[in-house]
Amino acid sequence: MEKNIFDLIIVGGGPAGASAAVYAARKRLKTALILKEWGGQSVVSEDIQNWIGTPHISGMDLAKNLENHVKEYAVDILEIKTGNFVTQTEIVEIEKEKIIKATLENEEEVFGKALLITTGSDRRKLQATNAEKFEYKGLTYCATCDGPMFSDMDVIVIGGGNSGFESAAQLLAYCKSVTLLSRSEPRADKIIVDKLLENPNFKLIKNITIKEIHGEDFVNGLTYVDKFTKEETKISTNGIFVEIGQNPATTWVKDLVELDEEGKVKIDPWTNKASKENLIWAAGDCTNILYQQNNIASGEAIKAIEDIYKALKTQ
Ligand SMILES: Cc1cc2nc3c(=O)[nH]c(=O)nc-3n(C[C@H](O)[C@H](O)[C@H](O)COP(=O)(O)OP(=O)(O)OC[C@H]3O[C@@H](n4cnc5c(N)ncnc54)[C@H](O)[C@@H]3O)c2cc1C
Repeated sequence: MEKNIFDLIIVGGGPAGASAAVYAARKRLKTALILKEWGGQSVVSEDIQNWIGTPHISGMDLAKNLENHVKEYAVDILEIKTGNFVTQTEIVEIEKEKIIKATLENEEEVFGKALLITTGSDRRKLQATNAEKFEYKGLTYCATCDGPMFSDMDVIVIGGGNSGFESAAQLLAYCKSVTLLSRSEPRADKIIVDKLLENPNFKLIKNITIKEIHGEDFVNGLTYVDKFTKEETKISTNGIFVEIGQNPATTWVKDLVELDEEGKVKIDPWTNKASKENLIWAAGDCTNILYQQNNIASGEAIKAIEDIYKALKTQ
């Protein structure tokens, strides 16, 4: 039986996947968009304040808007397959051409000349008593998104890597004080560590583990344990920002593209290409770009579509 081969398979229904689908359809690329749910990570957010052109929008409304916009194009050229994860992908040969084969949870097989990976990631969650209870009640996983709500306040950042120190640097611009808690010696670049240590409003506490988050309706402190002395210390704070890494949703492509040590897809930042051949691109939070935001994910995906279009039309 002759196979239905799409020009492009896009996997993921967050801002990257949705933006890519709109652009691909407008360029008349025959596209399959595969996703489990619409909206992506910030769907849980009550008030997103930096989606450009919309001063306030809930994560649920953003998801609805993305879905509605993409569906405007699901008339002929764009096919949307919802409710399904892609579990596996491989490169197969059909009529001497290399083709991507994506297998879905329901065992459906989808074939495409190109693949765009936009499956995002999950923030690694803090393992401490009450961490879950105070999520979005003063304990947050995104300094860029929620930091401005803590202006002139004392805050804590948990995480001694680059993202922890970068978040602390951002917060120091408008918070009264920032205390960074690290479970080891800092693992961030020395230049940023040294710069922050010069700031009188910054304090570093290292070699600790977080035991418990405290608060009533909202976070008001935490207890940490010294790794060596086992001494417990309770400190107060107005807000806690957790930056302890991410879990990119990339296991389904691990055999096809190169991943970095965190499991993020390595891309060429000019083109978003993830493979040497003109077969696979990636965009948004699943890639090894430095910054993770809705607007960035959207723009990165659009950049990828421009390159995919060029590759498909010139090869
Ligand atoms: C709590 C929270 C609040 C945030 N608030 C803001 C904010 O206010 N402003 C801002 O700019 N950014 C915010 N961010 C960051 C922002 O949400 C991300 O940068 C953005 O969602 C990344 O978009 P993405 O499309 O790359 O990936 P994601 O949003 O992660 O979307 C990935 C999509 O792929 C799907 N998927 C994953 N694996 C598969 C698979 N195998 N098959 C099919 N589908 C799959 C997922 O279900 C999801 O729909 C927030 C993040 C968090 C965690």
